[in-house]
Amino acid sequence: MLQRKLNIANLNTPIHKLEQLSQTLGKDIYIKRDDYTGTEISGNKVRKLEYTIQYVLDHGYDTVITTGAITSNHARATAALCAQFNIECHLVLRGTNAEYEGNLFLEAMLGAHIHIIKPSESREEAMNILYSKLEQEGKTPFLIPVGASDWIGTHGYVNAYEEIIEQEAELGIKFDSINLAVGSGGTYAGLWYGNASNNLATKIIGYAVDQSTEDFEQKVKEIVKQLDQNILSFNTLHINDNYVGLGYGQATDEELQFYINIAKTEGIILDPTYTGKAFRGLVQEIKQGNYDDQQAILFIHTGGIHGYTQEMRGRIKQLLPDISDAV
Ligand SMILES: *Cc1c(COP(=O)(O)O)cnc(C)c1O
Repeated sequence: MLQRKLNIANLNTPIHKLEQLSQTLGKDIYIKRDDYTGTEISGNKVRKLEYTIQYVLDHGYDTVITTGAITSNHARATAALCAQFNIECHLVLRGTNAEYEGNLFLEAMLGAHIHIIKPSESREEAMNILYSKLEQEGKTPFLIPVGASDWIGTHGYVNAYEEIIEQEAELGIKFDSINLAVGSGGTYAGLWYGNASNNLATKIIGYAVDQSTEDFEQKVKEIVKQLDQNILSFNTLHINDNYVGLGYGQATDEELQFYINIAKTEGIILDPTYTGKAFRGLVQEIKQGNYDDQQAILFIHTGGIHGYTQEMRGRIKQLLPDISDAV
């Protein structure tokens, strides 16, 4: 295991109870606010990047290349840390609607070099081409995979699991499950490994935001094996792919209405790409009786507020009452 990491994130992130929803569902529903890890570097990616960027600095790299969707939270967090540590940052972002807003806007302000590719193009190929080009220019680039979901970044959530154990002791609660969104697998892998290596029985339940259960189980196994070759059994992996809906970054009106209801009743903004889908999945599964053997349930809010693009905001506006200018 890596010992060295940056200390940039605001840790420990608080855990609090969702009172209204707990009452409605007859469970104790708690939320861990990993959306409070920071501002430019908010969300789950900073926990991973604390290890990744430390690794980059320790090994003498001067340039970072990473990738994601146009709306990528990981790309924004990487841009912020690179600015802070004087590392040249290249972002390969895939998508069409490259509006100058949200994360893309922040990345530009943070001085990242932005390379947009078409949905049909391979992110890995584009990163490799860029890598050769930068090397030829005399740079020493380091490739961070999508979501920083490799053995290095995953350390961030092994660490987060230790933090949760501490908080359980402080709060006098034992969580029956920890629930989270799965987008590139690193967050899940870290929590799952933290749980397995402490020999604890807490269920780690992931909700896929795209791709299938099989794809993610494969990805998680690969990451965990890089971290620890002694883990042989993976039969406690739980990744549910029933709530992917229309696909990555897409939302139905019903989903948007659910996010509005949570905002109004709990004062919490879920994001439309990750936490919204996962949290909606959790609530549906509880209603269907699939959490009947559990009482204390933890959800990790992994961030993502900048995922409300102009298009998404326009659609939400349609679902809300008109703003009145009369008093
Ligand atoms: C990236 C991301 C996730 C998913 O985490 P992975 O480690 O990529 O699976 C969840 N929520 C938000 C807001 C994210 O940006």
